[in-house]
Amino acid sequence: MKRTNTFTVRPLSDTAERLLRDLLDASAALWNEISYQRLMRYNNEDGFEGEDVWDADTGQLEGKYKDVLGASTAQTVTRANSEAWRSFFGEKKAYHDESNTSVTEHPEPPGFRGNEDEGRVLKGAIRKDAYSSEWGQRSRLVLVVGEDLRDRHNSPKSRLRLEVAGKPNWSDYSDQGRLELWYDETDSTFRASQPVTVSDDVRDTPLADEKAALDIGANNLVACTTTTGEQYLYEGRELFQRFRETTREIARLQSKLQEGRYSSERIRRLYRKRTRRRDHAQEALCRDLLGRLYEDGVDRVYIGGLTDVLETHWSVETNAKTHNFWAFKQFTERLVCTAEEYDISVEVRSEAWTSQECPQCGSTDRTTRHQDTLTCPCGFEGHADLTASETFLKRQIEKVVRPMARPVSSETEGFRDAENATRFQARFKWDDHNWSGKPHPHERPKEQRTDPSTVNRDGNVASGESA
Ligand SMILES: [Zn+2]
Repeated sequence: MKRTNTFTVRPLSDTAERLLRDLLDASAALWNEISYQRLMRYNNEDGFEGEDVWDADTGQLEGKYKDVLGASTAQTVTRANSEAWRSFFGEKKAYHDESNTSVTEHPEPPGFRGNEDEGRVLKGAIRKDAYSSEWGQRSRLVLVVGEDLRDRHNSPKSRLRLEVAGKPNWSDYSDQGRLELWYDETDSTFRASQPVTVSDDVRDTPLADEKAALDIGANNLVACTTTTGEQYLYEGRELFQRFRETTREIARLQSKLQEGRYSSERIRRLYRKRTRRRDHAQEALCRDLLGRLYEDGVDRVYIGGLTDVLETHWSVETNAKTHNFWAFKQFTERLVCTAEEYDISVEVRSEAWTSQECPQCGSTDRTTRHQDTLTCPCGFEGHADLTASETFLKRQIEKVVRPMARPVSSETEGFRDAENATRFQARFKWDDHNWSGKPHPHERPKEQRTDPSTVNRDGNVASGESA
């Protein structure tokens, strides 16, 4: 099976760091030159009419960079760029195909790594046979670099050695794929992702058998309940607000376009900014959530059948706005990819709408939702989306969500009510870099996860049992 390792790498000296930066910078420069040549042809710019993006002379560009990058890396950058273009053409086709609803936004052709004002984005790719790794107490990554780069830094070694922080999830694999390396400016670290093939019987967490269910929306991006009693909420109002402001600005600029023009560089830039911001938040959310679920011993995540929900229960406006904003299909795919790294499976289930159902008496028509709160004449009051994820989870596993022995921590910025007093709940907000909330306590001994008999049930009644 295919898995992906992601890890932080550290150059072992200042020289090594400068060399790595130059390597990634030159990779980005080559990427940009190839993208430029292809974009000119794609847009039928003057002098390129009738040419195809594949007519760009990438061999000549590779030649220009091979002494710096090494021939294999120059070739790998070209290949990665070609894949990006093929994927763009695939998405474009899906977007124009009315029977296919997986792509809801007009895709953009592959862009440039960085811009004139902010410089290039340091990012590169290393061919599968041009690096090696050693996993153990002191994990190492060794890469091939070009001769010119070695000379420039007076580095006598033909290879660049990097230290890997921590142990990857999948250190025992039969094959490795193309290594992606980049500099993450948000926390000033170099990161790498490495696709690997591992044998089917390797399991990362043999004890994990807990489940989690997700409710996905626009106001609260994700509400999650696990069978260990944990509940996580990722708030999206501010993010959505900013998305909407950018959308309005795009509409305003579009209304001012001259007749016959459909876009401008400024509009395209806003689209890209909007998409990038959302992608960044989604990516970080997937990592944060899956990391927590992994530590909770979850091996399966259920996601409700969002298409059904959107089609039948949401207003047209909500439907359109969340479709664009959240790009559900893309989010689900991202979630599946991240979950794979942790060996957590994701199942999308078609499910009747659960958000209005009272978990205490089962009523669906007597409940009222006001903003985030669901109330019922039977006395129930709880967070609507968290309750929905809990109801959905119960349906999937057909067993009661186990109450937790420990009461809600006073440090936890969460909320509690009669039904939820025994749960751990945490809320997270996006601050442009991280999903932050109050720290997630991990003091709970591990055996409580796997042995329910240690859970003190006195006075703690799970909501499903009180009906
Ligand atoms: Zn009720």
